[in-house]
Amino acid sequence: MDRIYLCLAHMSGKEQDFIKEAFDTNWVVPMGPNVNAFEKDLEHFVNKVEPEAETTITTMTTTTTLNKKVVCLSAGTAAVHLALLACGVGPGDEVLVQSFTFCASSHPITYLGATPVFIDSERETWNMDPDLLEEAIKDRIAKTGKTPKAIIPVALYGMPYQIDRIMEIADRYGIPVIEDAAEGLGSRFNGQVLGTFGKYGVLSFNGNKMITTSGGGALVCDDEKDKNEILFYATQARESYPYYQHEHIGYNYRMSNICAGIGRGQMTVLDEHIAHHKHVQELYCELLKDVKGITMHCNPTPADFSSNVQRSTSNATFDSNFWLCTCTLDPDLKVKGQENAYKKVITGAVGGAAGVTHAASTAVTDCQPNANVEAMRVALDAANIEARPLWKPMHKQPVYKNAPAYTNGVSESLFAVGLCLPAGPYVTDDHVRYIVDAIKSAIF
Ligand SMILES: *Cc1c(COP(=O)(O)O)cnc(C)c1O
Repeated sequence: MDRIYLCLAHMSGKEQDFIKEAFDTNWVVPMGPNVNAFEKDLEHFVNKVEPEAETTITTMTTTTTLNKKVVCLSAGTAAVHLALLACGVGPGDEVLVQSFTFCASSHPITYLGATPVFIDSERETWNMDPDLLEEAIKDRIAKTGKTPKAIIPVALYGMPYQIDRIMEIADRYGIPVIEDAAEGLGSRFNGQVLGTFGKYGVLSFNGNKMITTSGGGALVCDDEKDKNEILFYATQARESYPYYQHEHIGYNYRMSNICAGIGRGQMTVLDEHIAHHKHVQELYCELLKDVKGITMHCNPTPADFSSNVQRSTSNATFDSNFWLCTCTLDPDLKVKGQENAYKKVITGAVGGAAGVTHAASTAVTDCQPNANVEAMRVALDAANIEARPLWKPMHKQPVYKNAPAYTNGVSESLFAVGLCLPAGPYVTDDHVRYIVDAIKSAIF
């Protein structure tokens, strides 16, 4: 069996036609016809609201149509950075950000000299806990006398956050929301695509995301005016003179016309990719439902919220793209070899180790997945299956040890028990059966 990866890039075959066109017309620069067309394709995609929304938003008589604009950039991280800049974030400011995430959600806050304030998750979606968010806003205002400059919820593994509650709180305090939907391209809340609820929405086309441009990202904006402002900062903030006149500090963050050509090709398979990820998730759920001690992370249903009736999301539709399928292992589950977990210092870091040039100095840290989770990862690896722990919460990362954090133990406890399983377009039904068999044979 060839190695099964978490999420491999998958080409439609049309990418090369768009790239060839770029070469033939000599548009080998960070702008051009492919960039403009890719933006139009993305706008068409994000502005479409699925009719299922009408069943939950009962007061609406007409189908909602959105009119969001999209700016293509060199990376999702660049999109986070420019969104923060556009929200006026600068030295001494604070930004409220989901702790349970990849570092690209929070690092750009630091680039701007601001301080990330980490917010823990709730159990239903694994994303930003709205109750904790409001508590943090009140406490930051009381402690610093200043209102935080932005709120960044993250669609972890594609799962929608409780965006209705988050927007309601954000609006009440007048704080803009930057949705980090880098992992959630095509995920929907009440039928509406993530990234279109907040002031800004971040998308990523890195090599392992739902679609890829090899590397790239985009920012969803409200209108042409906001889009132009982002474009200005993405292209070195040049003023309109016959020579280079600079009145602001800008960045070199525009997407290349070659990468956008890949993106246009990828847009032709985006719906297929989303359907495939959802299918793989369903198959895992079916095959693992009788396996004691392993629980798949699924879209929350109204019943999941019934114990907490004040939640306005109690009748909302969560529709994850299942970028990665994730499960949790009961701490009591006995996995073969767990007594040997973390005995050796790891030499090849997670994620193919691209750019990992530092050697680990210890085999363990003070916050890591349980031994049975690490043993399962090792067992799957031996069966040529790539599996990975969940993101380690940012408030537990040494680099952020001095950042304020509002915690409830949820992300830390999920990190201890969670595992990401392969989910991309190359994962076949046979692969899922093989993976589930490997999981079963690793359990005592
Ligand atoms: C991938 C990702 C990003 C953006 O990353 P880029 O690699 O710069 O495109 C941002 N946030 C999260 C949560 C991500 O997973």
